Amino acid sequence: MSDSAPSIFSRIIAGEIPADIVLDDDRVIAIRDIAPQAPVHLLVIPKTDAYRDVSELAAGDPALLAHVVATAQKLADEHSGGQYRLVFNTGAEAGQTVFHVHAHVLGGGLEEGKLA
Ligand code: 5GP
Repeated sequence: MSDSAPSIFSRIIAGEIPADIVLDDDRVIAIRDIAPQAPVHLLVIPKTDAYRDVSELAAGDPALLAHVVATAQKLADEHSGGQYRLVFNTGAEAGQTVFHVHAHVLGGGLEEGKLA
């Protein structure tokens, strides 16, 4: 749940910060990661800021989680030949830095060990 300043992703969704948006529908946006870890590195971000991580999203709105996953597949079909890794960092010790749930879609010739 949002309890302080808007996340960087909320500011991108609001149009306050520029991003390379590759998909935009009623429930999610997808953008290119600013620091790509693979040739294709997209982020699928629910527009709501109600969920900090995938565990909260799964409990609170499983249909929205399913839409995030379906969107990841659609993007991978378009950008990465349908082959990809889907990553939800969950918790700071697991590498999560933005506490507004988002899925990393990594593809396009992943290098072994590139994403710890
Ligand atoms: P996390 O570490 O929370 O799983 O993932 C956050 C991701 O957001 C990181 O891969 C980081 O590079 C990306 N990111 C952070 N700030 C921005 C930004 O302002 N624009 C874009 N496009 N990506 C960002």
